[in-house]
Amino acid sequence: MKHPVLIVGAGPAGLVTAITLARLGMSSLLVERRDDISTIPKATGISVRTMELLRSWGLEAQVRQGETGAVAEGRITASLTSPDGVGIPMGFPDEHAVGGLSPTAAASVPQDHLEPVLLAHLREHHCAEVRFGTEFVKLRQDAEGVDAWLRDRASGEIIKVRARYVVGADGARSRVRSALAIPMTGPERMADFLTVLFRAPLRERVPAPLHGLYMLTGPDAAGMMLPVSSDDRWLYAIPWDADRETLSDYDERRLTALIAAATGVADVRPRIENLGHFSFTAQVGDRYREGRCFLIGDAAHRITPRGGTGMNTAIHDGHDLGWKLAWVLLGWAPAALLDSYETERRPIGVRNTTRSADPAGGRRDPAETLAEDLAGRLPHAWIAPGRSTLDLLGPGLTLLTGPRCDIRPPATRSPVPLDVHRLEEPVAAALGLEPQGAMLVRPDGLPLAHWTGTAGDLPAHLHTLPLAA
Ligand SMILES: Cc1cc2nc3c(=O)[nH]c(=O)nc-3n(C[C@H](O)[C@H](O)[C@H](O)COP(=O)(O)OP(=O)(O)OC[C@H]3O[C@@H](n4cnc5c(N)ncnc54)[C@H](O)[C@@H]3O)c2cc1C
Repeated sequence: MKHPVLIVGAGPAGLVTAITLARLGMSSLLVERRDDISTIPKATGISVRTMELLRSWGLEAQVRQGETGAVAEGRITASLTSPDGVGIPMGFPDEHAVGGLSPTAAASVPQDHLEPVLLAHLREHHCAEVRFGTEFVKLRQDAEGVDAWLRDRASGEIIKVRARYVVGADGARSRVRSALAIPMTGPERMADFLTVLFRAPLRERVPAPLHGLYMLTGPDAAGMMLPVSSDDRWLYAIPWDADRETLSDYDERRLTALIAAATGVADVRPRIENLGHFSFTAQVGDRYREGRCFLIGDAAHRITPRGGTGMNTAIHDGHDLGWKLAWVLLGWAPAALLDSYETERRPIGVRNTTRSADPAGGRRDPAETLAEDLAGRLPHAWIAPGRSTLDLLGPGLTLLTGPRCDIRPPATRSPVPLDVHRLEEPVAAALGLEPQGAMLVRPDGLPLAHWTGTAGDLPAHLHTLPLAA
């Protein structure tokens, strides 16, 4: 059987690609090496644009149920409970900082709360086949499609599948990337960290407000600590010598002593839930595409946690590639649209990766970050209580017109669905539209064309307008 799209990896990037395809009615095969979704919190900073996507899928409330309750600031301090410390902005704007620029705000939610919400939403569509315990092994592509070999990890059986397109969403050590021989450029292993996930009753002892990230400077407690739930689960990242030490060097006693020093609570009794490690690496794939195969998320760019953009960039990649693949597979756009995935997304990957390599890259002004995060999409304005201009975007093209616009949709049938919305004058003005004007918008909110009051009909062949810059 030929699958329209094979997605390798059910992390945030792969899940979002499958959801975006499924919401446009396009099926996919999503394979994940693990037996289940990841239970490691990793990212906690969800950007405003990511929250806008989640909100547009009706998932905002479910996602916010996992909020840690931390303010979107970092704190430099000797220990977690020390009363002395310096706050630093981390670039995640709360409702106040967002002002009127978005219908939502950034959130502090652990990745292992977000991923199950995404998986459940994907399953509601009955469009994607999700196979856990299934590992991508290799691929071979030709002009019409891609053969991929998958291993069932339980039985060891090798299964060959055929897909029209393959999406490598298989993380930092992507095997899809190796199979495509796409080199990565940038520094590797700039620093190594051990990560300890633990529970301990510390919240009440931490000076209010609770911060999203603690940069610990105490003599025996260097590292970073962050709350990863609303009920006293913590992640502690400790610098370690990955070449000389192994995880087994860190037994419960040693970890308890380190956590006691880091928290400033001498009698702390942590319950250790997981021990892992990761490295600060800042690399970007030289290409995001090879023929019918694409790289997204950490497979395409290895961004250090500094600045909290890795998962958000991965999610935005998945959304961008997802709708473009669906449009091409549905015959709504020529295959050339897929070229715009790399031209639009790679510069953002390069920017975020480069910044994350800079020791000062985690210190971000929320207003500046917000402008970058929302760049390119049409402005938000409320059209009714709880209903934003962003909610008008359809699966195809959307034409937004001013109240006195006489532009008529083209008589010639376009393969792309067209949603037309006439806006009230204040809303049109908020979008920069004259009362007689109109604006044509992509499903991701990128305005493609504007017409002023003097314009006549829209071009007959709407879909032949350039869909990318
Ligand atoms: C400590 C830490 C803190 C972080 N904090 C933040 C933050 O605050 N904000 C932020 O935006 N980002 C943060 N990040 C980064 C973020 O976690 C990653 O960027 C994000 O997980 C990338 O998503 P992904 O889907 O591309 O890859 P992954 O989440 O790595 O998912 C890839 C998936 O592919 C699977 N896979 C791998 N190989 C195969 C194979 N051969 N076959 C089948 N499946 C395979 C893996 O099992 C995995 O499930 C942090 C990372 C760390 C380590």
